[in-house]
Amino acid sequence: MRALWLTLGLLWGFPALAQTAESDAEPGRICNPPPLNRPAPRPGAERQEERWAQYWKRLQDYLQRLPKEPDTRLPMPVQGVRVRQVTDTFGAPRAGWRVHEGQDIFAPRGTPVYSATHGFVWRIGHGQRGGLYVFVVGPGGRRYYYAHLDRYAPGLKEGQRVTPQTLLGYVGNTGNARTTPPHLHFGVYSGSRRTCDYRVINPLPLMVDRDWKALISPARNR
Ligand SMILES: [Zn+2]
Repeated sequence: MRALWLTLGLLWGFPALAQTAESDAEPGRICNPPPLNRPAPRPGAERQEERWAQYWKRLQDYLQRLPKEPDTRLPMPVQGVRVRQVTDTFGAPRAGWRVHEGQDIFAPRGTPVYSATHGFVWRIGHGQRGGLYVFVVGPGGRRYYYAHLDRYAPGLKEGQRVTPQTLLGYVGNTGNARTTPPHLHFGVYSGSRRTCDYRVINPLPLMVDRDWKALISPARNR
């Protein structure tokens, strides 16, 4: 009996395991025809569609002002952490048939999180899974997702231009990470379900170390 429950637990994914996917993800599955017994749309689905249409429009505006080629090198976003300290958990199983859509970068609560790219702050929000999160749109329209933040950088605004020197927030364990040690969940997304080119990208192979001393006290290099 115990083995049965264990098997069922593994199949369903233990609810205790933290799962993180894009918060408030784009609705609809236009690329995959819905099954015939598709449930009725959830309440609020229309509002979600509307909100998404607005975000999508804004993303197109930012795209016009950014290089077309996506970044091939992503400087480490969490202050003081080295790339080799990150354990690759991209695609690892998570509760409810999900997989881990990103990398977890562990650091003490309150450690500064910097943008890994140039771009625009696309969305600042609060989700059940991601907790306090910031999305940055970078070159080529890639969306960089910084989740479980303890708090945002003071004065951070949607639409703000960012560089890899821009502070976005601080490491925490908000959202479904509240039972885990503080970490940054770093996710990268491209394309759209509408245009059938939606992709979840593993950031780890693109990540590079940065010279934290130079960033923290730039005066030293002058
Ligand atoms: Zn994660």
